[in-house]
Amino acid sequence: MDTVAVTPKYNLNEEQEKKLILREYRALLRSLKPKLKPGDKELIRHAFEMAAEAHKTMRRKSGEPYILHPLAVAQICVEEIGLGVRSTICALLHDTVEDTDISLEDVQREFGLEIARIVDGLTKISNVIDVNASQQAENFKKILLTLTDDPRVILIKLADRLHNMRTLESMKREKQLKIASETVYVYAPLAHRMGLYNIKTELEDLAMKYLELDTYKEIARKLAETKRERTRYINEFIRPIKEKLEKGNYQFEIQGRPKSIHSIWNKMKKKGVTFEEVYDLFAIRIILDSPPEKEKQDCWSVYSMITDEYTPSPERLRDWLSNPKNNGYEALHTTVMGPQGKWVEVQIRTRRMNEIAEKGLAAHWKYKEDTSDESRFDKWFQQIREVLNTQDTDSIDFLQDFKTSFLAEDIYVYTPKGDVKMLPVGSTALDFAFSIHSAVGSQCIGAKVNHKLVPISHKLRSGDQVEIITSGKQKPSEDWLGFVVTAKAKAKIKDALKEVKRGIAEEGKYTLQRKLEGMGASFSQHNIDELTNFYKFNSSLDLFYAIAVKSIDLKELKEFQLLGDRLEMPKPVRVPVEPKTDSGLSTLAKKDTELIIFGESSDKIMYTLANCCKPIPGDDVFGFVTTGKGLTIHRTNCPNAAKLMANYGHRIVKTKWAKNKEISFLTGLKIVGIDDVGVIHKITNLISGEMKINISALTVEAIEGIFHGNIKVFVHDKEELDELVQKLLRLSGIQRVDRYDAEKE
Ligand code: MN
Repeated sequence: MDTVAVTPKYNLNEEQEKKLILREYRALLRSLKPKLKPGDKELIRHAFEMAAEAHKTMRRKSGEPYILHPLAVAQICVEEIGLGVRSTICALLHDTVEDTDISLEDVQREFGLEIARIVDGLTKISNVIDVNASQQAENFKKILLTLTDDPRVILIKLADRLHNMRTLESMKREKQLKIASETVYVYAPLAHRMGLYNIKTELEDLAMKYLELDTYKEIARKLAETKRERTRYINEFIRPIKEKLEKGNYQFEIQGRPKSIHSIWNKMKKKGVTFEEVYDLFAIRIILDSPPEKEKQDCWSVYSMITDEYTPSPERLRDWLSNPKNNGYEALHTTVMGPQGKWVEVQIRTRRMNEIAEKGLAAHWKYKEDTSDESRFDKWFQQIREVLNTQDTDSIDFLQDFKTSFLAEDIYVYTPKGDVKMLPVGSTALDFAFSIHSAVGSQCIGAKVNHKLVPISHKLRSGDQVEIITSGKQKPSEDWLGFVVTAKAKAKIKDALKEVKRGIAEEGKYTLQRKLEGMGASFSQHNIDELTNFYKFNSSLDLFYAIAVKSIDLKELKEFQLLGDRLEMPKPVRVPVEPKTDSGLSTLAKKDTELIIFGESSDKIMYTLANCCKPIPGDDVFGFVTTGKGLTIHRTNCPNAAKLMANYGHRIVKTKWAKNKEISFLTGLKIVGIDDVGVIHKITNLISGEMKINISALTVEAIEGIFHGNIKVFVHDKEELDELVQKLLRLSGIQRVDRYDAEKE
């Protein structure tokens, strides 16, 4: 576990060095032997000689000849990852293009396009070190793009990183910290994701040695101290199981292995316990030699033998036989009550599964007939590619996003038809919706999880069956970003928001134009740039947007010297209009109304109307999920609403009333446009004349040639209101029409 390469302090003479290099080279050939086809040996020799010649004058920090590093990386690729001849050649050449006179063209000429591409990928990757955060994210993206071209790039890179970590000793402290933290942050999760469990563990332990040496030493010491006691216990635990397995004529191997120092430390931190209180310091692993067709059956029989002997903890059964992990891991895990009342984790797997657990992706290729696993990786790569293609290039949270979406453990959820979908832990109904299709995500208004209604922010759990409810009227909003963890959902939401922002900014642009022209200044790019700088925005888009949403006050423009003197403000004009009140229309026939959740869904859901605010049809309402009682409907302006929303946001469900032509409800519209003679007449004519809608009140205010109108009208439903808004917008001079809650004003 704690493998540190033996690198004696350098005092070898040239002859001894040559011998050492040759010895390492021969060891590499020996490991590769079973995989060698005619001609391969010559190719490898050629690559080795080319690399040795190119690195001839270079030495590592430890003083040893540089070529020992590519040799060691190649050895790791073969022995610990299970890669073959081509990868060995790439590993030998992996630092040549970056550090020596050898060019990519040379590599391609000598070894062909496939190898040149992998070496190219590895060359790009080595640029990652020593750059600032955003640059690093940028480079990491490049790595991933290359990775998705050919996973061998990342496997060889992991071997490279592993060897660098094993020989980190001779680096400067500062560099050690940097490389070690990068290793835990990116490379260990990546190794895990590729299914390279042993490499992941070693990377983490090595990194911990540099990052938290004291804790590392202490846990190592305690592990050593308790070793005898642990061995005795493991033997006692294993004995009855061994007997049963032998009786059942199983070919097997049982291991009782301590968990890694890093994972023990993680557990201590996460649970806030001491070393002594970590109950699962070790796991029992049973490896069966089963023929392919009996694998599953054998694993379950052994499970049954164990649980006959020891009582299992029901919530700790993990069946990765039926649903392998996203990194290909297959096994059956259970935790049982062992002797002396101690919980013990038992992992049951076959020899094939064990090899996959240890060598990951490369082992998958070996068992090539298992095409479902290949497509599992393909799917993963496909997802990464999709995200990389949509992601903003300037996004610094990219690494974080990537980690949570692609390096985290997965949960498995089902579509209503029973198709399984993999999502990272922490995914919500909204993530699920986006994973189906971005259009489904954008229009998602809720979901049914295991037939129960939940809000879009509902966190999913493995095994959930999820049905997404959509509405054509739904649109992504800013707070959605807080509900999703998958990079795909995030990218799609950001795209949509940007689109909206652009639309709103258009209005701000227009406002600014009028303002500038009104002040006698020109609406020129120069002036826009000056203003963008003045208000400290990154782009004119941000400036226009800020103006449109009124987060900056254009009155301040007078302070902006470039624009000259302050302007005279025209007096506001008030035009009161005689309200035409309703003729009994607001008599609400409660019995006829019905609440429908989520607009277009035809599902009728049990609900009660809240007593605190007594909503009536037409009120802006929201549903609050009450356990056992279904939904309680509150008005959005109910005094309790803010508290409910703030504290139980996840239990809030969007609701709206069903269509009902018999009743009308009062709503308000804010109209902004250019002040023009007759504009009020045009508006009232449209509303009461053409559309026969009752106006309850109308006020208009004009400032600097722009009028702001407030109209309260009675409409039957949202559709009618929308029609009215559309028609108003078509009137000349009208800039925007926004709905507001009439009751509040
Ligand atoms: Mn290297």
